[in-house]
Amino acid sequence: MLSRETLSGGGRVAVVDAQLCTGCLTCVRICPFGVPKIHPSLAGAGNIMGAAYVEAAICQGCGLCAAECPARAIQLAHYTDAQMEAKVTALVEPPADFIPLAGIVEVNS
Ligand code: SF4
Ligand code: SF4
Repeated sequence: MLSRETLSGGGRVAVVDAQLCTGCLTCVRICPFGVPKIHPSLAGAGNIMGAAYVEAAICQGCGLCAAECPARAIQLAHYTDAQMEAKVTALVEPPADFIPLAGIVEVNS
């Protein structure tokens, strides 16, 4: 591993919207891997200096911080609120042109 010039990480990482962060430290305390830090030069909610920052290279993508952030300032890449809402909506209200897998098999056979 150390012989490589670059390392590839997973895409499922926490992303903080600093503008929403109140600096409450919930993510800092709850992350089992100690990843989120309060960055003093980032402007948070109300332009108050000091907002959370997640280093993507070491985030394990567990989503705990995103689930617990009271300001909803953290989204998990590829599992954002909008993406999850779209998936649930598609499950309970499939689009009119949705063809179930069984239908595809019947058409092809
Ligand atoms: S839990 Fe949310 S509001 Fe609190 S410090 Fe972390 S990102 Fe900011
Ligand atoms: S997603 Fe998990 S590992 Fe990554 S910063 Fe949040 S709590 Fe830590």
